[in-house]
Amino acid sequence: MATLEIRDLHVSVGQGADGAKEILRGVDLTVRSGETHAIMGPNGSGKSTLAYAIAGHPKYEVTAGSVTLDGEDVLAMSVDERARAGLFLAMQYPVEVPGVSVSNFLRSAVTAVRGEAPKLREFSKEMRQAMQNLSIDPAFAQRSLNEGFSGGEKKRHEILQLEMLQPKIAVLDETDSGLDVDALKVVSEGINRFGSSGDAGVLLITHYTRILRYVKPDFVHVFADGRIVEAGGPELAEVLENEGYEKYTKAGASL
Ligand code: ADP
Ligand code: MG
Ligand code: MG
Repeated sequence: MATLEIRDLHVSVGQGADGAKEILRGVDLTVRSGETHAIMGPNGSGKSTLAYAIAGHPKYEVTAGSVTLDGEDVLAMSVDERARAGLFLAMQYPVEVPGVSVSNFLRSAVTAVRGEAPKLREFSKEMRQAMQNLSIDPAFAQRSLNEGFSGGEKKRHEILQLEMLQPKIAVLDETDSGLDVDALKVVSEGINRFGSSGDAGVLLITHYTRILRYVKPDFVHVFADGRIVEAGGPELAEVLENEGYEKYTKAGASL
């Protein structure tokens, strides 16, 4: 069992002449094992900022509030420590690392999270199985990390990491963007497989309701202007699909 608790989180970015800008303005959210939460909201509302702040991205400064995982102070942890503690943050735009293969990257990540290197033979078997689950061509394992990856390949790779690392809580930002319907189904199945394992929690951040046809959230939160402005069950996603975000944005102006 695991619980990610976000309390009154305030986050600022940028140190330009005009000073830091407050993006998150008091976010409260609790994600427990076995729960899938969707955060939905208009572009620019601060959804990715929430993901980056949980991930520990240096550009995002937490000015107030707390984030804990099973009572441990996540904000005091390094990025590596967050991963070891059981947090998984799939980033919207993963970096390219030429010369490092997907296979090597995954083995290092698994080693970092488990605290010991998996036996090569067992690791290879595990990886092949996980790749098969996600309909990923075996040759993909030898590709350079993120180099020339299509949108669909990036997203499958995210879910591949999820399957291999088996974190306690996964934060997935815009996992549906750039996916055709077939890839969306495969990726959604992967998220569902992970989410239904019972001891994992999922925080799925998305602008579009499309992925929620395949991944059924237990809770839906509407995000606007740096905070959660409404919360409900899966039915809320349907309301958003039909009505959009207008009523949550200033002067009804979306985007
Ligand atoms: P969303 O993911 O909901 O579209 P973001 O969290 O990406 O929203 O952005 C929220 C606001 O924060 C936007 O106004 C954006 O311009 C600003 N912002 C986000 N990241 C940065 C950054 N690194 N530097 C400056 N401004 C940023
Ligand atoms: Mg579940
Ligand atoms: Mg975003």
